[in-house]
Amino acid sequence: MKYVGFSTGCLYKERMNFEEILRFYLDIGADAVELSLSNLRNFHNYRPSKDMVNLANNFEFVAIHGPVNIFSPEDVKKYIETSRRLTEALGSDGVIFHPHEGNNYHLFSNSGVKFLIENLDGSSTIGITPEEFKYFRETYGFGCVLDLQHVYEHDSSLLTLDKFLTDAEKDLSHVHASGCNESCIHASLRDSDNRTEIIRGLTKIKNVPIIHEGAIEKDPKFAKKELEYLREPEKFI
Ligand SMILES: [Zn+2]
Repeated sequence: MKYVGFSTGCLYKERMNFEEILRFYLDIGADAVELSLSNLRNFHNYRPSKDMVNLANNFEFVAIHGPVNIFSPEDVKKYIETSRRLTEALGSDGVIFHPHEGNNYHLFSNSGVKFLIENLDGSSTIGITPEEFKYFRETYGFGCVLDLQHVYEHDSSLLTLDKFLTDAEKDLSHVHASGCNESCIHASLRDSDNRTEIIRGLTKIKNVPIIHEGAIEKDPKFAKKELEYLREPEKFI
């Protein structure tokens, strides 16, 4: 069974709280979710309610997207503490951050928290190749999150996807999916110019959860369709 779902960030336009968002996702049949807590202050201040904990427990897979850049050793210590607290409270399967020049990666090793590193978008010059994934895994023990749209931005043929998938195999936590159009690099698949390419990429993802990261509206009909793309991409080629 392949688990599929959304990031809480997909509904950013709707001004809903996490509880409302998770309830909506459960109602339309999602079984995976990613909490977007990439704002540093929100990340450290966030205290999940009982309701939230119960809702999170209804998902088969829960990831947390933490803040992306971490610099000083004190910041890392605090980051690990918050990650541990939220992982335990929400039964999370991993905390994501981005590769960034100046990060004290070694301080994250052996923390006991499952940290995941994500491949970055077209504006980035680091954190973009399968070899880097391998390096982060072997050197620091990080798991990986593969963002299909980000792979596409560097290689619209998606030929490197196979290499990412072979290299990451055991350590791939989950995949991020979205598409792009003229105004947005994290669009719904319905609104994407590269939907065909992304869907073709999705057919190669077999055994890991897929999290949608594109903007969606609070319309069950359209949101369900986005889930269908993730769950059965073969139907749409
Ligand atoms: Zn990210």
